[in-house]
Amino acid sequence: MRATESFDLIVIGSGAGLNVAAAAHAAGRRVALIDDGPLGGTCLNRGCIPTKIILYPAELATAVREAAPIGVHADAVRIDFATVMRRARELVAGDVAEMQQSLQQAEGFTFINARCRFVAERELEVAGRRLSAPQLLIAAGAREWIPDWPGLEEVGYLTSTSALQLEAPPAELVIVGGGYIACEFGHFFAAVGSRVTLVGRNRQLVPAEEPEIAAELERRLGRRMAIHTGVEALGAEQRAGRKVLLGRDVDSGQPLRFEADALLLAAGRRSNADWFQPEAAGVRSDAAGWVEVDEYLRTSAAGVWAIGDAIGRNQFRHSANAEADVVWHNMSAGEDGELEALDERAVPHAVFTHPEIAAVGLREQEAIEAGHLVMVGEADYSAAIKGYAMDAAGSRVKVVLDARDRRILGAHAIGPCATAMVQPLVYLMHAGAGDFLPLVRAQTIHPAMEEIMVRAFGNLRPGRGQEQHFQHRHHH
Ligand SMILES: Cc1cc2nc3c(=O)[nH]c(=O)nc-3n(C[C@H](O)[C@H](O)[C@H](O)COP(=O)(O)OP(=O)(O)OC[C@H]3O[C@@H](n4cnc5c(N)ncnc54)[C@H](O)[C@@H]3O)c2cc1C
Repeated sequence: MRATESFDLIVIGSGAGLNVAAAAHAAGRRVALIDDGPLGGTCLNRGCIPTKIILYPAELATAVREAAPIGVHADAVRIDFATVMRRARELVAGDVAEMQQSLQQAEGFTFINARCRFVAERELEVAGRRLSAPQLLIAAGAREWIPDWPGLEEVGYLTSTSALQLEAPPAELVIVGGGYIACEFGHFFAAVGSRVTLVGRNRQLVPAEEPEIAAELERRLGRRMAIHTGVEALGAEQRAGRKVLLGRDVDSGQPLRFEADALLLAAGRRSNADWFQPEAAGVRSDAAGWVEVDEYLRTSAAGVWAIGDAIGRNQFRHSANAEADVVWHNMSAGEDGELEALDERAVPHAVFTHPEIAAVGLREQEAIEAGHLVMVGEADYSAAIKGYAMDAAGSRVKVVLDARDRRILGAHAIGPCATAMVQPLVYLMHAGAGDFLPLVRAQTIHPAMEEIMVRAFGNLRPGRGQEQHFQHRHHH
């Protein structure tokens, strides 16, 4: 073993970790960046970016196929699978190559393409080298959770990573999972012509969403694929060259079988802590392996910070980026500099299915449980002319606010351009008092989609079971 090499900063993970490594390098620090995979991490190589490139053609084709009620008939819409996949791979390969080139040209920047693990406080071992630094950043991400169900390894399966390498779509596909990754892949493969069966454990599809939004997704996706929720998968077996997923209904216990040419596992994400071994450095993580941090993104070990999927909170690229900004500020604050706390008031996310889902903040039930005096407002897309023009009945938005100060607590949308509908509310939640008044006082372009959100604020009513609090308020 060679002598320990010292740096000013060591970063594990080249996703959002690269943001911090680059900022530190620009500020003149000696930086070591370690990643065992391709540069750019999950988002670029196997996450947001390639999936959204392949989902756009799926969106386009599905929208056209569903346009008969408004008088558009396109019976022969066909997606050229090879072209779609090639575009995604080419963009990723190009971006990775560009990043590699700029790192090679960066003086005083060390990139090590291997798996590392902590061996002592602020000390790592990687590829036979020992590295130490006064500051370390864990930005080590997460990976697919692969269950140890009997038969699964023998039968073989796809993951969200390997599915992106397919040359042709399977004729029949069973997707295990009911979260956003499962639904996005379900939408994609249904659009390219696979017969898709989605098998989720939770009774609610996309369990993180507002229940009525999830129900609308199930209704709409259910026209294009078979959806089974409330099914516990137990194992897999091979039958006449086909793959069979074995499970049972979580309530009745009734055994169930789902047969297809391919199985795609999208049943959750797991921590990479078994790889980087934070305990060796005195870094605490929870039972599932997510690294524990305080509001300043400090771990339990002095000088060690953590961001992104590794902390197991909001596992989105925009959250990882926001955390990278905060952590870089805090790392460079110096001994008596003021630390910046992570602001998690308004964390948005989307599900890029058809229809699309977007949401920010609290669901109605969460807001009630958090002790807010809750009002909710809903509007169906068809309540606005643009929604009618699109025949988007059933698509809807829902807002959640606190009646005491009119603060927006949450917003949820399902339908065309849901992300564009919700994003202005994210800004409002950050602006000034975070109330919704600017939205109703401002003029809204007519007849645009955004009128739907304004309608929701015009339809306010007390949250579920909150009516008596409003009567009480009225009397005083
Ligand atoms: C299919 C899919 C679709 C997604 N779609 C979206 C989306 O539309 N929008 C969105 O916001 N988010 C999306 N996400 C989530 C998003 O990709 C992640 O939240 C984000 O990439 C996390 O970034 P990160 O920097 O924390 O980790 P990562 O980008 O995962 O980077 C961590 C890196 O560290 C490496 N590493 C881990 N341990 C070690 C070790 N011991 N030694 C060396 N290297 C190590 C890993 O191999 C990895 O390369 C998607 C994810 C998936 C899987």
